[in-house]
Amino acid sequence: MNVKKELEQFGFFPSKRLGQNFLFDENIARNIVNALDTKSIVVEIGPGLGILSKFLLERFHNIFFIEKDALLYGYLKEHYPEAKIVLGDALKFNFEQFDSFSVISNLPYSISSATIRLIIDRYPHIDTSVLMLQKEVAERLTAQMKSKNYGILTVLTMTFYTVEKLFNVSKNVFYPKPKVDSTVIRLKRLDKPLVNIKDKENFILFIKKIFANRRKKISNNLKIPPDTNEKLGLRAEELSIKELIELFYALKSTSE
Ligand code: SAM
Repeated sequence: MNVKKELEQFGFFPSKRLGQNFLFDENIARNIVNALDTKSIVVEIGPGLGILSKFLLERFHNIFFIEKDALLYGYLKEHYPEAKIVLGDALKFNFEQFDSFSVISNLPYSISSATIRLIIDRYPHIDTSVLMLQKEVAERLTAQMKSKNYGILTVLTMTFYTVEKLFNVSKNVFYPKPKVDSTVIRLKRLDKPLVNIKDKENFILFIKKIFANRRKKISNNLKIPPDTNEKLGLRAEELSIKELIELFYALKSTSE
């Protein structure tokens, strides 16, 4: 796809605010789409000029495209008249209408963390997500404990989904060229999350609190005395996901 020519003909100026860096390598686009294997409804966030969308339409029947930019929405309507295209902000979309769905996106940087939070919030309704992310954000999702990237996104994502790093994508295959490379990752819903589903909201709050100030001990972040459990004297990043979950349940049982 000659993105630059297409944009020029269309009189379109990419917006930084909306993270409009368009992929122009069709082989990579096909590989991203092939990484999604699902029988549920597919939602593409930010289809742009439709480089992923056209391959998606070849493979899946029940697809929704959500594009925030009105001009791109018009372009997509013209090129894919049969497709279900929604003009709007994906973060405000009514996902409750779908019982089970998958997400695919070359995510605009500005909403990448928020989209991952949304995917965590919508568990267990999302079966698979294939996301192209800035490499740094992908590293946060796949981080090991005690590393600087290990934090709220890592723990919450891995509590509800398996995280697979699929491949890196050079910044040279986008127009305009972004500052950093990207990584494609796949999240697959765990049939059984690592915490009991009824504790999901409390666990999310707990993780947000204990990582609120990374340099502080867990007891300080929670504003409780450190003597009830030895782990409280450590920083959150020093505990594995399993240990964080054990601590959550140990504190829960003492408060009940
Ligand atoms: N999918 C295209 C591609 O791979 O070339 C475009 C990807 S571009 C990185 C991000 C796209 O997301 C743009 O089309 C942008 O207008 C759209 N976008 C930005 N914020 C959005 C939001 N909150 N909701 C839906 N789309 C959004």
